[in-house]
Amino acid sequence: MNVKEMAEEFLVCPKCRRSLIYKKTGEEEILICDNCGVYYPVEDGIPILLAEDAKNIGER
Ligand SMILES: [Zn+2]
Repeated sequence: MNVKEMAEEFLVCPKCRRSLIYKKTGEEEILICDNCGVYYPVEDGIPILLAEDAKNIGER
């Protein structure tokens, strides 16, 4: 199972508990919460789902 499948099946936003959207842009993988307007990093294939690591989508 890859990160995309894992994210879409099991992972939820730590803030609002809604499902996340996986996106890969070049080398960077992120998990987006549309509800919160934030994204979470994926480091070495491991999603970092910590509310304090959430970044605003607008800052990208
Ligand atoms: Zn959220």
